[in-house]
Amino acid sequence: MDSKGVNHYIEAAKRAIAWQKLQLEQMRACRFDTIAVHGIYSMQEALDFNQGSVIEPIYMSSSQAYHDSDEMEAALGYQIPTWCYSRIANPSMYYLEGVLSLLEGYGSGEETSCIATSSGMSAIASAVDPFLLSDPKRPGAKMNFVATCQLYGGTFQQFAVRKEKEKNIEWRRVVHSNEINEWESRIDENTRFLYGEMPSNPSQGFFDLEKVVQLGRKYGLPVIIDSTVATPALLRPLQYGADIVVQSVTKSLATSGFAIAGAVISRKNLKLNIDNDELKADFAGYLKLLPNRDNGPNISPMNAVLALNDIRTIRSRMDLVSRSTLKVAEFLSTHKHIEQVDYLGIPQHPLHDLAKQYMFLVDSEFDQQYGEKVNRFGHLMSFRVKGGRNETRMVFDAFERIYRATDLGRIKSIATIPAISTHSQQGEEARKIADIPDNLIRLCVGGEHPDDIIRDLDQALSTLDGVKKSYSSPEFSAGGASSSRLQF
Ligand SMILES: *Cc1c(COP(=O)(O)O)cnc(C)c1O
Repeated sequence: MDSKGVNHYIEAAKRAIAWQKLQLEQMRACRFDTIAVHGIYSMQEALDFNQGSVIEPIYMSSSQAYHDSDEMEAALGYQIPTWCYSRIANPSMYYLEGVLSLLEGYGSGEETSCIATSSGMSAIASAVDPFLLSDPKRPGAKMNFVATCQLYGGTFQQFAVRKEKEKNIEWRRVVHSNEINEWESRIDENTRFLYGEMPSNPSQGFFDLEKVVQLGRKYGLPVIIDSTVATPALLRPLQYGADIVVQSVTKSLATSGFAIAGAVISRKNLKLNIDNDELKADFAGYLKLLPNRDNGPNISPMNAVLALNDIRTIRSRMDLVSRSTLKVAEFLSTHKHIEQVDYLGIPQHPLHDLAKQYMFLVDSEFDQQYGEKVNRFGHLMSFRVKGGRNETRMVFDAFERIYRATDLGRIKSIATIPAISTHSQQGEEARKIADIPDNLIRLCVGGEHPDDIIRDLDQALSTLDGVKKSYSSPEFSAGGASSSRLQF
């Protein structure tokens, strides 16, 4: 048999890339919901390559076969698109990356790309590590990065222990993230990136992103935003000029709770003060083909499709849960046993006006129900119980519908006490700076009817009056005979 030659495959790849580009352009012209539902999987792809399968097929295979040595050579030399080996890429991962890339880029007019990772934490490590390289022009200089201190507990540990303590990379903390001078005062010639979470988990920190982006531009530094709490349905940092977004896809995006997943989404052609053209041209693509290929933190195909399936309804879900959370927050803010409610959606919150400038239900102006841009603030809130640690635990332990778990973004309501769970490792001093006291309960309101969640909160708070208004039947309550069978 005559060899087809490497060029045969390169030419075929060119046609495939042109076709894909057209598909992407058509998808970009669609509204958010259509993109969330269809992603980058088209009817033509279904009919021509996937036996008509309406839903994206699941490719569990570890690797891809090639027709001949020419195709293999072209593929492994990255001369043609390939998925070769599932540590690097795989069609099921590709569908997830495609939809997230389009959703985060929605409305920005920018070309974006995405790499899906095994968790939110690995997305964060993937996003920041390539910038933490020593500068040959400044041998011995101590590197630093500037990041808010209101962060998810896992991120706090990654920055404080893995970077600062173990690698001697200084985390310059921004305590008042809304004071732009504080950010700027932390930057020097050894700063590698600017990082923030908006809104922050759990304390609802928020800052003026456009101003932080201006600082990034001024100093040629990447602005990296963890936008897990908002999801692209409510906030898309790339639209405001952020360079890189990280998502814990595990949370609201994959709301069913079947998967742990993360993602890094970036704009193309980053204007940065660093000497790496490949990285700047397509950051997520660079991660995929190089550092993450070698470090191996990418997502598994099964987790990718589980996440993909939940993402289809993200817009209407975030609308529903945001409205429910507002109702719950309003109930709690007038309750006699509640000291404070932290939710960006209530006017009493000091950052409410700022959040209003950034957090909108995407496409609400095209929604028959609304016909205008409406603010939505997501389903993460927290509240502080009057009294202290003991009262807080009494209320927490009395929940009958709301699950006690260290999780959020679920379709089921879940609460935790961050001081003894997600934020326990960082210690009291750091919790104080991040404003996470012992009497704070983080609540993420799910898709239940809000009246039922309010009823559960009301009965749990009633334990502080000494009369518990329990509504579950006694034989099924915790510790009862029928539930002890399930205990281990
Ligand atoms: C949960 C979370 C993470 C970490 O994500 P995992 O998927 O659990 O690794 C990062 N950032 C925020 C804001 C989170 O809530």
